[in-house]
Amino acid sequence: MGRAQFLVLTLLCVHALLGALCLAISRGERDSPALRYWGWGLLAYSAGLAFTLMRFMPVPVAGFAGNALISASSALTIHGVLHYTGRRLARSAVAGGIAVTFAVLAIGNFALPAPNAAVNIVAPTVLATAFFAWGAAMLLLHPTTDAVRASRFLAMTLVSAILVWWARVAAMPSLLEEPLDRERLDIVVSYFAIAQILVGVGAAFGLFWVEVRLVQAAMGRMAYTDSLTGLANRRAIVARFEEEVARSSRTGVGFALAVFDVDRFKDVNDTHGHLAGDALLCHVGRLLAGGKRTEDVLGRLGGEEFVVIMCGHQSGGAEKAANRFRELVEATPLVRDGTAISVTLSGGLALHPGDGTTWDKLFAVADTRLYEAKDAGRNRVVH
Ligand code: GH3
Ligand code: MG
Ligand code: MG
Repeated sequence: MGRAQFLVLTLLCVHALLGALCLAISRGERDSPALRYWGWGLLAYSAGLAFTLMRFMPVPVAGFAGNALISASSALTIHGVLHYTGRRLARSAVAGGIAVTFAVLAIGNFALPAPNAAVNIVAPTVLATAFFAWGAAMLLLHPTTDAVRASRFLAMTLVSAILVWWARVAAMPSLLEEPLDRERLDIVVSYFAIAQILVGVGAAFGLFWVEVRLVQAAMGRMAYTDSLTGLANRRAIVARFEEEVARSSRTGVGFALAVFDVDRFKDVNDTHGHLAGDALLCHVGRLLAGGKRTEDVLGRLGGEEFVVIMCGHQSGGAEKAANRFRELVEATPLVRDGTAISVTLSGGLALHPGDGTTWDKLFAVADTRLYEAKDAGRNRVVH
């Protein structure tokens, strides 16, 4: 086995290993279609290289099968990558591109007097260029917001792959002229194999980088989101509260903290069941979300307690806003299975900085006022 073939075998092994790794990782708890298709693409590429290395097979068969697999591998890998962009390749474009490439490879290997090496080099390159360029463009134009830099890196590896493929095409004509300069051919194929290994490993790292960012973002969202209503949870509310305190001390404009509790919510659970209770909590969350200003922060503290941080509100404005929320919930029952479930809210209001400047202090004041509202007969806001 010559030096070049040895490096092509290394290229094959590296891609087979990376492909298997991608498939293994994609089968975890977090199913990843991108990794799965990328993995199959790398395995198809490795199988294609294996055909081109086989000596016991007729040359036209090995040339056609190997390069057909290498061509198809680019479609698989890009189909995977596009999952990160929310874009898809049209099936007709993929099928058409592959059919034309297979036809050209069949003519080049079987219909000509002797298998044409140029066809075997150029046909897969043209198809891979089309797919990789599309994949790179989509990654750059529509990257997933959670992994913008990783998507850019992945796009750059695809562009590098295109350059390596075309460098090979550009180098080949002079090398294939008779008489063959085997030494030079050996060196160029070796360089190509090394460059392909680097690009393949780089792209796999790019893919893993995107995956890590997506997992981190999903975990971050889970840590700061109330799973029932999708609103901010206590951790997120307190974090946003600290941001508001910092902003308020910079601008000198105060804000209000309103704590709401659904009145007699236990009765809803007891009468209509816990599922209806859950649906009602989501309903109240949606109403509050619809009624708040964009910059206000809404969250569920737990149970049937909600919090709204009303930015920039002065005393009178905050009270009016809090009562608007209360009236909205009172006036909008949840209709479920033909039954209307009505609830009311009680609320306590505290102002920053007048009533306190820390979460503990301000929340304690708002909570005390909430209980005053309950004691005073419910369905009211105490400020
Ligand atoms: P009050 O007017 O004094 O606030 O009365 P209440 O019935 O609303 O308050 P109480 O604290 O007695 O009951 C709250 C109930 O909320 C009890 C608890 O089982 C229920 N609950 C807490 N979290 C959830 C939830 O996520 N889903 C459902 N369905 N019920 C919940
Ligand atoms: Mg309650
Ligand atoms: Mg409560």
